[in-house]
Amino acid sequence: KLTQAHEDGKAPATFSFEFFTPKTSQGVQNLYDRMDRMYDLNPLFIDITWNAGGRLGTLTTEMVNVTTTVLGLETCMHLTCTNMKLETIDKALDSAFQCGCQNILALRGDPPLDGSESTGVFRYAKDLIRHIKSRYGNHFCIGVAGYPEGHPEESDLDKTIEYLKQKQDAGGDFIVTQMFYDVDLFISWCKKCRAAGITIPIIPGIMPISTYAAFFRRAQWCKIHLPDHFFERLEPIKEDDSKVRDEGVKLVAEMCAKLLQSGCVNHLHFYTMNLEKSTIMVLRELNLVSKQQLVGMDTRPWRRSLNPT
Ligand code: FAD
Repeated sequence: KLTQAHEDGKAPATFSFEFFTPKTSQGVQNLYDRMDRMYDLNPLFIDITWNAGGRLGTLTTEMVNVTTTVLGLETCMHLTCTNMKLETIDKALDSAFQCGCQNILALRGDPPLDGSESTGVFRYAKDLIRHIKSRYGNHFCIGVAGYPEGHPEESDLDKTIEYLKQKQDAGGDFIVTQMFYDVDLFISWCKKCRAAGITIPIIPGIMPISTYAAFFRRAQWCKIHLPDHFFERLEPIKEDDSKVRDEGVKLVAEMCAKLLQSGCVNHLHFYTMNLEKSTIMVLRELNLVSKQQLVGMDTRPWRRSLNPT
């Protein structure tokens, strides 16, 4: 059932992995190893998130430099503009440009936690996109964020679609969505986007399930709908992390298969949360990576074991 999406002469689905900047130097080194291993699975690209403020913003540009020039990975750099001076934004963009990175996910970022107004030079993501276009022309392929169940600050879904169209018109080349588990809501949103004149590729953001607590917390944080069958299958086993992960893999793989079969998307973007196992198990269940690729990962000479965590 899961492989039907790739039949009938359709091109095989592709996928990508998102990673966030770790807090320690050891964490960064471990992540490079993990990215390198996971790149053996042939993702189209990897992304590195932007964590505004202090060292972590600079760390994103440093990591993009290493993944692009040392590891040779097709990398997409996230960049936010809340509380960001023009000089800081340009420094990040110049760094990406100089190291050969060609993909930016242009974001506004979350508003300041203390409720104050952003002091940044740009108000919305579309302003950042316009700036990137005016400074670098078509060098960067620009991604933008989409919200199939609306944005926490805007309850009117139609308005969020209108704003998404503005991001396309400003120069956005593709959309990566917020995580979701309700495929029907996603498909209906995709159709609304297309009806509103949004023509660029829509890439669904997929969050694998690691523990019940994390699954529930993230869904509440993003204010997304959890379909009943997720509860029915996860609730009875919620105290057993390993059972939750196994069942979570099946649920997420079924969801991905339904997405691919819908014809709305042909690419899956995984929020890895810097972990390997759940994402790899979903890809395996979908038949998007082969057993051989996993064995290959395991036997590279410098590698002690796959031991995904
Ligand atoms: P915008 O598109 O600018 O929208 C922000 C708000 O303004 C929305 O409520 C929107 O409805 C409203 N709006 C937009 N245009 C207008 C207009 N013309 N008039 C009135 N209102 C308008 N955050 C990070 O800090 N780092 C990351 O790396 C990061 N990565 C992300 C990756 C993805 C795939 C997604 C979906 C989100 C990510 N975020 C990240 C979170 C994101 O920064 C927040 O959700 C943020 O609140 C909105 O960013 P945006 O780019 O969608 O903003």
